[in-house]
Amino acid sequence: MRHCRRLDGGVALIRAALPQLDETTGRPHRVRYVRHLDQIPNIPPAELAQLKRVAEKYVFRANDYYLGLIDWEDPNDPIKQLIIPRAEELNDFGELDASNEEAVTVAHGVQHKYDDTVLLLCNEVCGAYCRYCFRKRLFMEENDEVTNDVTAGIAYIASHPEVRNVLLTGGDPLLMSTRRLTEIVEALRDIPHVEIIRLGSKMPAFDPWRLVNDQKLQDLLRRHSTPEKRIYLMAHFDHPRELTEEAVTGIACFIRNGVICVNQCPLIRGVNDEADVLAEMYSKLSYIGCPPYYLFQGRPTAGNDPYTVPIVRGWELFSEAIRRGSGLARRARFCMSHEHGKIEIVAVDERHIYLRCHRTKDPALAGRFLIFKRDDEALWLDDLEPIDPDGAQALEALGCCVERLV
Ligand code: SF4
Repeated sequence: MRHCRRLDGGVALIRAALPQLDETTGRPHRVRYVRHLDQIPNIPPAELAQLKRVAEKYVFRANDYYLGLIDWEDPNDPIKQLIIPRAEELNDFGELDASNEEAVTVAHGVQHKYDDTVLLLCNEVCGAYCRYCFRKRLFMEENDEVTNDVTAGIAYIASHPEVRNVLLTGGDPLLMSTRRLTEIVEALRDIPHVEIIRLGSKMPAFDPWRLVNDQKLQDLLRRHSTPEKRIYLMAHFDHPRELTEEAVTGIACFIRNGVICVNQCPLIRGVNDEADVLAEMYSKLSYIGCPPYYLFQGRPTAGNDPYTVPIVRGWELFSEAIRRGSGLARRARFCMSHEHGKIEIVAVDERHIYLRCHRTKDPALAGRFLIFKRDDEALWLDDLEPIDPDGAQALEALGCCVERLV
């Protein structure tokens, strides 16, 4: 059975059979975008005005397919939590750029934090907007961090031979036209030292037809994901209910066109903060050829108060989930994408939290092991207290505010 419903006349959500996805001759299926909460009749009128105020600050966008995955009978439905605004987003919490990405911005739309990796922020729109997004600032009108013109980014990468790995992100690169994507991918493939191109995208969850119904995009991927130099899809599934028949078909299409698929997602309260949910998703992802890569501790981003999960709780859930998963699922890591590096949460015991610097701006600190007092409320590295001078020194080297910590 198909899982989709469509939005009829912009007013009513109804269940409808989708065209068969014939990848050779198939009729293209297009999602219909929903930009206004009052287009969704399932939101009670009493809540609508308040949620519209939230959406004025943190923009709302969805589509008929994704809204069709919501079980409106369940007030705590995880897909609903992921996409429909919540009043608590207006709580005083966090910062818009919680990991200070601005500090590693080297040119318009270009972030260079780790030696071999550059991020090109090439699109400021997503297929829908995740409520917990840590880059929600990019969708605000006054923000200018993203550029569709990647000329400066390509020139920067070409002049930095240490860059082997380029991540197209934003926003969602797969929401760009195939023509623009072709220009960018071809320009990157003209740079001999770029080995890996990664597409960071939630389109396989939001719009599985994006690739399936675009032969030119399939051709582009097949041409440029070669045995020597692969293209990777950094997919973003947050919940097993997103792994519909259509989504599985979409991932199969990436794989068939030579793309290596992995999944990364944050831990989100109300969406995937249950071991059963994570374990089920990890198993399914492994079965379909898109095994989990990272689980991220949520950044303390403004607007994200209702979506936070403490580090200790996150580690418990993650550990339980990977214990139940296949060996492929167990390769996943639970990390904080902190301003100063990717910090892995390795273990927790009665008294301590054990972290490891997985990737750092300063390569000399990579692999450094850090021990902190256990704090069951802590949400972020900066909330933790190191237990020894070594830990404090390492934090200082990482650039953390040790005066506050020791
Ligand atoms: S797809 Fe990614 S960038 Fe876009 S809203 Fe969701 S989390 Fe943010």
